[in-house]
Amino acid sequence: MAGVEKIEKKAAYMGRLSHGADLLEELTKICTDRGIECGRVEAIGAVQKACVGYYDQNRREYQFNTLDAPMEILKLSGNVSIKEGAPMVHAHITLADDKGRAFGGHLAPGTIIFACECLIEAFDGPSFMRTHDEETGLALWDM
Ligand code: ZN
Repeated sequence: MAGVEKIEKKAAYMGRLSHGADLLEELTKICTDRGIECGRVEAIGAVQKACVGYYDQNRREYQFNTLDAPMEILKLSGNVSIKEGAPMVHAHITLADDKGRAFGGHLAPGTIIFACECLIEAFDGPSFMRTHDEETGLALWDM
């Protein structure tokens, strides 16, 4: 069921991520370590290579595209909520290759940081819990 809830900004964190680390893991670790359970994430920088997901709506499963080249992160945008009792970062990323061509998708493990600057906003409010949604096959917020 769809819906929105009021949330209030609690804190903001800004920093630099580790060269050679996995981008999704690093963002998730920051949220876990800081107790961020509801938030917003954005980042720019560059990756050594990337893995992004595309959700096949008919087959109801992700297919993953590996982009094995250094690329710029034009924009990473995402949120933080709770899945199976732990903070989960859900982010989408737009990348550009050496010709400025854009690629992107659902950020997946296997995206390796070259350099990355991130901004995370933490919110106070009701918990957003991800549960299986029959209509889409995705783990969506239970509103
Ligand atoms: Zn996604």
